[in-house]
Amino acid sequence: MLKSPRFDELVAKFSSLPGIGRKTAQRLAWHLLSIPKEKALELSTAIQNAVQSYTTCSTCCMLTEVNPCTLCTSPERDDSQLCVVESHSDVFTLESMNEYRGRYYVLGHLLSPLDGYGPDALGIPGLLKRIEELQPEELILALKPSAEGEATIHYLTELLQDHELNITRLSVGLPFGGDLEYSGTLTLANAFKRRFPA
Ligand SMILES: [Zn+2]
Repeated sequence: MLKSPRFDELVAKFSSLPGIGRKTAQRLAWHLLSIPKEKALELSTAIQNAVQSYTTCSTCCMLTEVNPCTLCTSPERDDSQLCVVESHSDVFTLESMNEYRGRYYVLGHLLSPLDGYGPDALGIPGLLKRIEELQPEELILALKPSAEGEATIHYLTELLQDHELNITRLSVGLPFGGDLEYSGTLTLANAFKRRFPA
């Protein structure tokens, strides 16, 4: 028999990754089983090493090898701006613009009650603590333009309305429903520069 429970398990693991459909998962599984064993096992070693060495920053929730992360501890970053993003990859995307020098906070999820992500799924207590510590002048909600992004912006502006904060959001021009990482650095940089009150 060509396939087995072990093969199926491998395919299932690949399929569970974002952006990988069943066909691609099968192709990856066949590929790994057909190359020299030591080459294939290098992948599992790399996964193991990275997964074991990374943790979540206790201050901003960004993935990091040192806790707190360098974005939180660097004296060269500006405390007067705090940028709220959905995910770790958004921090990478925004950093690639080379525009922003403030601090970050990673929510982990956007508000999406139908998918089971209510206010408790967002790292709100950590965000409030971060605002308390930094006392930023501006809170930038760099969330993707989508129904979930809008709901989250609405929720956060209501929640923080009594704080002395300029709450801003990215300008229009980003494709609705698209992730920040696919919007292109220039488009994102423009949307970032032309942000407006939320
Ligand atoms: Zn951090």
